[in-house]
Amino acid sequence: MKILSVNAGSSSLKFTLLELPEEKAIISGAFEKIGLDDSFYTIKYQGKKDKKEVKLESHTTAVKLLLDELINYKVIKSYDEIDGVGHRIVHGGVNYTKSVIVDDDVLKELEKTIPFAPLHNPAHLVGIRSFMEVLPNTPMVVVFDTAFHQTMKEDEYLYALPYEWYLNYAVRRYGFHGTSHRYIAMKMKEITGEDKKIISCHIGNGASLCAIKDGKSMATSMGFTPLAGVIMGSRCGDIDAGLIPYVMSQTKKSFEEVMDDLNKKSGMLAISGVSSDMRDVEEGYNNNDKRCVTAINMYVNRIVDYISMYNTKLEGADAIVFTAGVGENSDVVRKLVIEKLSFMGVKLDEEKNSTRGIDGEISTKDSSIKVYVIPTDEELMIAKDTYELINK
Ligand code: AMP
Repeated sequence: MKILSVNAGSSSLKFTLLELPEEKAIISGAFEKIGLDDSFYTIKYQGKKDKKEVKLESHTTAVKLLLDELINYKVIKSYDEIDGVGHRIVHGGVNYTKSVIVDDDVLKELEKTIPFAPLHNPAHLVGIRSFMEVLPNTPMVVVFDTAFHQTMKEDEYLYALPYEWYLNYAVRRYGFHGTSHRYIAMKMKEITGEDKKIISCHIGNGASLCAIKDGKSMATSMGFTPLAGVIMGSRCGDIDAGLIPYVMSQTKKSFEEVMDDLNKKSGMLAISGVSSDMRDVEEGYNNNDKRCVTAINMYVNRIVDYISMYNTKLEGADAIVFTAGVGENSDVVRKLVIEKLSFMGVKLDEEKNSTRGIDGEISTKDSSIKVYVIPTDEELMIAKDTYELINK
């Protein structure tokens, strides 16, 4: 079966076409700057990447072009060879604990989730409706970033805030990157043969940690929004909410401007003064640039704080897993994190850790907690859910 795994943003649409149950990615690409004058798209196929500049008036234009390109590249002969489309949804609100097939009720429910993710969820809905217009007979599935964390207990997801905020407005921790953390739980079960107690560190441009027990999320570092938790590329992670009115009064910035600063001008970008990209900050760190050294130290400290906390919650983790852009590629960050845990007997195999493209265990045999690098695959997870739901 051919399943499209889709991530629609406000002006972008990323896709991967996969063959299921073989779990084989065939072709992928991204349509960017939809609705703008300088729109373009890229397609990756058999190790080659093609870029075309073309006017993309709407998501529907992009969807039609995507399907026509699949025909051009000879991966399908007609639109109806697409057996299902899985859509990534950032926020599933209170009710969604797992992926579902889209119907009218689901569309109505999704509309209700917009206040939780006003930037992302409307764009996801545009993406779903565009595909429904072009492929009216193809089943659509929605896969939520928040769903995996719905197993957190009340004392984990509640904030110590007025209880009516929770009751009336659903103010609580939701957590994100659930599809990735779920993938890590699944892969770890494949590797070890059982459900281990895992600390999954999804550290990319956005970053979150998750404590996983019996294949379920117990705790996670992101909160009501993806701004909380560890330090990210340009997001601040955990801060004291009380600083916001102070900064507003000192800088005369509006609330929206300060929130924009917390999301886009903070994190590694702010501390390093160089970039939100870990590769650039690492370069500064290696050249002893003072601010890059501080940025990396802060970054590592925050990850270690969460690992320590989750190790306690799990009453002793079996494994720490690194994934996503930084987790998969930065041997420096992994080494610095594990060094700080060496007092509890966590030991890195330096040679394995510095192997490019490593996929598997990077700790020594006698390490008290096993350490792994596992490349995440959210697209596969979305396609698998879609495949399973449409074959039910
Ligand atoms: P993601 O959001 O998972 O796509 O991760 C993207 C981020 O991964 C980039 O912004 C970089 O900070 C980081 N990254 C990618 N490659 C490397 C690398 N070789 N070394 C360090 N960081 C990397």
